[in-house]
Amino acid sequence: MNNLPNCRIRENFPIRHVYIHVPFCQSKCGYCSFYSQSFSKSNKAIYLQSLALEITQFLDKYQIIPHTIYFGGGTPSLLEVTEIEEIIAKFNLSEIAEITLEVNPITITEEYVAKLAKTKINRISMGVQSFVDDELELLGRLHDSKQAENAFWLLRKAGFRNISLDLIYGLPDQDEISLKRSLKKLAELNPEHISTYCLSLEPDVPLHKYESQIPSDEKVADFYDLIRKKLLTEGYEHYEISNFSKPTYFSKHNSCYWQDAYYLGLGPAASGYLDKIRYSNNELEQYVQDMAEHKIMANAEVVSEEEHKKEYIFLALRQAKGVILKDYKQKFGTDFWEEYKAVLKKYEQSFCRNSTAVYLKPKFYFVSNAILAEFM
Ligand code: SF4
Repeated sequence: MNNLPNCRIRENFPIRHVYIHVPFCQSKCGYCSFYSQSFSKSNKAIYLQSLALEITQFLDKYQIIPHTIYFGGGTPSLLEVTEIEEIIAKFNLSEIAEITLEVNPITITEEYVAKLAKTKINRISMGVQSFVDDELELLGRLHDSKQAENAFWLLRKAGFRNISLDLIYGLPDQDEISLKRSLKKLAELNPEHISTYCLSLEPDVPLHKYESQIPSDEKVADFYDLIRKKLLTEGYEHYEISNFSKPTYFSKHNSCYWQDAYYLGLGPAASGYLDKIRYSNNELEQYVQDMAEHKIMANAEVVSEEEHKKEYIFLALRQAKGVILKDYKQKFGTDFWEEYKAVLKKYEQSFCRNSTAVYLKPKFYFVSNAILAEFM
């Protein structure tokens, strides 16, 4: 990405969604390729200073009245509650609907949760990944299933009524029995939202050495089916290929990504999308320098109409509601059905069409990447 001269956002551009990346973890999980680094108090202090500079620069130029704020990581719950509050307080919260904090069970104590419950955070996303201890150990998680469960109940007891839990499936040597154990526990805890991830191991992660023990594609597809059926039975809506929620508890922030909304990305290695410009920040050391030099949006590029269209379709078709024909026409001035007649015809078994939308049939969700690639 280059910082092209035409990468300018209009003055006073309205920003309604804010993502804040907190790039620290206590230790690196064996499967994780997200950007994060070891936590230390000194690194945290430098990070907070630079983040404050970044926020000020955006507040000075644009009209930021967030509907959603999302603290992701890394492990945002490594920040003190007062530090999180200070960040939130920088924004105009007159129209706020959702503030999510990602937490790791290992950081959750009664005292921490009690303080958290007094803030404006109203949604928690907790990385649990599995309720089988052997699997958690293999993944390099620092908590066991009991600690995750206790953390969940501490959050509930403190009054959090919108909790999302993450589940990873397709682990080395995983079988249906162990997946069912995790699903049973999930159902028992009954969180409002569940995000599921199929394990994929990049070559540079420690768990990559177990790649040959990952279950076959057919088996992983069966796992996906098992998860879907179980969660539908438990009253969840499958509103996005990897995400399930109780009615009305879909993630408002993540939906902004899927629904082509603009969002501000703050913090080291965060990415954002504003006024047709996609950008990413540098990693911590360079980010600190960038902020000291008032250099926001370090790596930016204008998204072309063609790329925009492709991304729009890809993300819309990942959602149960699919491509809304009227919205598509309004955005791109063309008829979606006409424009993609050939692909839609080729995969007619996979799609449903009604007068307002085109959407993927759920039984094709698991192979959606291959189908969606045809639109690219
Ligand atoms: S806690 Fe999350 S971000 Fe940190 S290493 Fe583990 S999976 Fe990655």
